[in-house]
Amino acid sequence: MSQRTLYKAQDGMCPWCSLPLPADFTGTEIDHIIPRCRGGPHESWNMQLLHRDCNRGTGGKRRVLTDEARALADKHGVILRDPPRPVGWTRAMRRGEPYIRSTLEQERTEEK
Ligand SMILES: [Zn+2]
Repeated sequence: MSQRTLYKAQDGMCPWCSLPLPADFTGTEIDHIIPRCRGGPHESWNMQLLHRDCNRGTGGKRRVLTDEARALADKHGVILRDPPRPVGWTRAMRRGEPYIRSTLEQERTEEK
């Protein structure tokens, strides 16, 4: 799946901000609608061309699961994986404490 193919399929528009994409693809990125980390496959129906800022910048999509992504997953029978663990989770697990409890304790300590 090339940038050109996606560009043509999208009529040269960015599906995220609905503004035109540059014809030379400068500052564009191929994005997975269902993020790879959530189990999205590397297949044409799961790919779109976005401005780089729309893909990862402030106000952009980052790693969120959009309604479109959920609908696609449903349609293609993709099993959605859990989102990546939050920072601090691994450390809490290694100490043998549940992450949520350690977070709550931290907040309680900060209140004192
Ligand atoms: Zn855009």
